Amino acid sequence: MSKAHRGKGIRDLPHYGRGTCARCETKNIKALYEVEIDGKKVNVCKKCNAALNNAKKATVATETAKESAE
Ligand SMILES: [Zn+2]
Repeated sequence: MSKAHRGKGIRDLPHYGRGTCARCETKNIKALYEVEIDGKKVNVCKKCNAALNNAKKATVATETAKESAE
């Protein structure tokens, strides 16, 4: 596993991968995670990526629960 989001992996990126997060709009944060929001590909920070993944998981879990209940 390479460290794609820290260390050498981000050395070549402009500003070491720092920018504005598209979700929480924090400035000068490492927005290295490409996600799709409303059909648009945007870069978000680590926290937002985790939050989005958790939301996705929760949705899947709810759907699975619904299916098994039927
Ligand atoms: Zn963010």
